[in-house]
Amino acid sequence: MIPGNFQYHAPTTLKQAVELLNQYGEEAKILAGGHSLLPMMKLRFAEPAHLIDINLVPGLKGISEKTGMIHIGAMTTENELIASELLQKKCPLIPEAARLIADPQVRNRGTIGGDVAHGDPGNDHPAVMLALGASLVLRGPKKERVVPVDGFYLGPLSTQIQADEILTEIRVPTPPPRSGYAYQKLKRKIGDFATAGAAVQLTLNNGACSQIGIALTNAGPTPIKLTAAEKLLTGKKLDEALIQKAAELAMAACDPAPDMRGPVEYKRHMVAEMTKRALKQAWSRAA
Ligand code: FAD
Repeated sequence: MIPGNFQYHAPTTLKQAVELLNQYGEEAKILAGGHSLLPMMKLRFAEPAHLIDINLVPGLKGISEKTGMIHIGAMTTENELIASELLQKKCPLIPEAARLIADPQVRNRGTIGGDVAHGDPGNDHPAVMLALGASLVLRGPKKERVVPVDGFYLGPLSTQIQADEILTEIRVPTPPPRSGYAYQKLKRKIGDFATAGAAVQLTLNNGACSQIGIALTNAGPTPIKLTAAEKLLTGKKLDEALIQKAAELAMAACDPAPDMRGPVEYKRHMVAEMTKRALKQAWSRAA
């Protein structure tokens, strides 16, 4: 339970942090809240030779809205998301999911950027970001690029972030009026990762779904966007039969691994159940 040797760096500007990443490449790791990275280092699953702590870098925290887009700094903690009046009012799906993450200690230090960048399919924010159609701002030594979260996850702990890039901001389109949301997470006990989770964000127009995003947590090697179910429900008024059909599409799209949270068949059924519950709750909140 003792990590390997590493050199600790505490840059005070984003430029310095990116330069350090560029200098040390694959040997370096960003340290944000440390609640995923440090356990992995203690277990020697990760042995970075250089740890680049970005807690002193200004400008990476905070939540604001500009021209129909919510901007969330990567170093914003889970508790800051939960306490945000702007998010409660304009995008309550994010604090709803944040409240279900871990325990108060983890939520005090853990950041949304770390949760999104880590690439663990058990993390809750990635599915939420897929349902919301978010994009990610990645800053490298030469340029900044903005990538959609759809397509960002490549495999377990593998994302599109290059070794010399830092996730600086998450951008979420502000949900329009008549929107509903839900995050349903089945877990064995308080503080546990999801056995299965489903995020839904939808908007109604004349009683039908004009826009819908649905995504799953811990249901495969990456978070899963339920594109087929989204297509099925777009333009329709939800009813029991359609919700059942969407849940079947969720079961078909997921690819869970057996572990201490249960065997594959059980997890598939829980994926279907979480999808149904999230759809019903989002629908009733929008209506
Ligand atoms: P760190 O641990 O510092 O970093 C994680 C990884 O992301 C590292 O590889 C790091 O280099 C990289 N990284 C971090 N920030 C950036 C950035 N800005 N740019 C580029 N790369 C970056 N999470 C859940 O979602 N749901 C849970 O139910 C849950 N339960 C937990 C229970 C326990 C007991 C613990 C200890 C953790 C749990 N977590 C859970 C994980 C927790 O939410 C972590 O805080 C989160 O996964 C990582 O955020 P962090 O800020 O701690 O990142």
